[in-house]
Amino acid sequence: MMSDKQYTLQTNNHIHYYTSDLLANSKIVHGFSTRQGNHGNDFSLGNETELRDQNRHDYCNAVGVDFHNLACLKQIHRDQIIVLEKTPESPPIADASITKQPGIVLAIQTADCVPILIADPENKIIAAVHAGWRGTVANILAKTLKKMFELGADPQKCLVAVGPCIGPCCYQVDNLVIDQLKAAGIPWQAYVGAEDHGHWNLNLAAINIRQARMTGIPQQRISRLDLCTACNNGHFFSYRREGKTGRMLNMIALSGD
Ligand SMILES: [Zn+2]
Repeated sequence: MMSDKQYTLQTNNHIHYYTSDLLANSKIVHGFSTRQGNHGNDFSLGNETELRDQNRHDYCNAVGVDFHNLACLKQIHRDQIIVLEKTPESPPIADASITKQPGIVLAIQTADCVPILIADPENKIIAAVHAGWRGTVANILAKTLKKMFELGADPQKCLVAVGPCIGPCCYQVDNLVIDQLKAAGIPWQAYVGAEDHGHWNLNLAAINIRQARMTGIPQQRISRLDLCTACNNGHFFSYRREGKTGRMLNMIALSGD
């Protein structure tokens, strides 16, 4: 069985998903899905089928949130952040969402990109962030945290949980990506392995953790599920490994009490 000391693999009604101990200990309802569940557990928006809705419904039930309040996004690898006051009728274009409203289920779909769930349990504000390399270059995680601070979150009280994503073992990038990291002022050399014929293995999760740290989040309030989606392809969907594939659903909600 795969495990990570900061995360727990939950199994409920045949659905397997991870919870972050940091968030769970603060009673924040959330889940990082795997591909293991009923009917293949694919949640992708491109898969507009009854099966997808059934998967979402079953997963929401397993985690303990209301399927009807699921707020997915139309993710486009930019830095648009949406603050939700109510559950949108259709997915808005954004790569991060924030809410203070109990019940709304913020959701991010991934298959290698970095999913990040954030909560300030004391000030009752949460966020979900999708960061691929483009979002990382755009500093979307730090921008989301800063927006949360504007809305009343405290950097000392926020918890940041980084979910399953492609690891440096499998994530090879070329000059195109390196040039963008450079242009964004990211000290990229600290996050790559040795160059191999114009290719580098990049640690995207670690750059995101740095971006969170730079907004003032203490290291002990950040956790990372250190399982590579491409290495563990029986467990997770991986776009890099499979090409056309499904999507995992990473979600977080504030409870009403
Ligand atoms: Zn790997």
